[in-house]
Amino acid sequence: MAEQVATNVHWHEGFVTREERKACMKQTGGTIWFTGLSASGKSTIATALEQVLCAQGSPVYRLDGDNIRMGLNKNLGFSAEDRAENIRRIGEVCKLFSDGGVVTLASFISPYKADRDAVRALHEDAGLPFIECYVEVPLEIAEDRDPKGLYKKARAGEIKGFTGIDDPYETPENAELVLHTGDESLEESVTRALASITERGLLS
Ligand code: ADP
Repeated sequence: MAEQVATNVHWHEGFVTREERKACMKQTGGTIWFTGLSASGKSTIATALEQVLCAQGSPVYRLDGDNIRMGLNKNLGFSAEDRAENIRRIGEVCKLFSDGGVVTLASFISPYKADRDAVRALHEDAGLPFIECYVEVPLEIAEDRDPKGLYKKARAGEIKGFTGIDDPYETPENAELVLHTGDESLEESVTRALASITERGLLS
């Protein structure tokens, strides 16, 4: 976890309480963190879920791996250190959105358990709902889908350190939700994700 570098900085408390914000947003908000291999279906599920939530009037925002790497995190690569910093920054952004009462859909491979646990701790320490959703799929199916041709490139040695090929994916052990996209349809996954965020109070 990054250390505080600046000195002489002080937290400036606002006047709006969490209860007041909830009343204003008409929901609690929180983060659902989709993790899994490339092509497991994280972005597909998150974009579909975002549409459903938006249509029912729930403030929602989606943060997606490649999109964030084209903006906020454009100065980061895929070394273990950069991956950790990538997830740390995104975790902080999710925490801010969640604190703002927005249902935040984060889809990131986030292969390392320590990085995911750090994002969870950020939320839990702030009293914000956090759902880790493991989007599970066998590597063979992900590789067969290969919508961006990345597995093909990784197998050809054109991409180094690709998760599942020559970089590890550490399987979540305590995920609140596991979606098996090799067996279940997109609709089923979206329905189950929606049920999970409802049960855990993000919409209430
Ligand atoms: P990720 O964000 O995990 O890298 P994507 O969502 O970009 O994955 O790609 C997943 C691919 O798998 C898409 O082409 C999608 O259409 C396909 N797919 C097939 N079955 C499913 C399913 N049940 N759930 C989600 N995606 C699926």
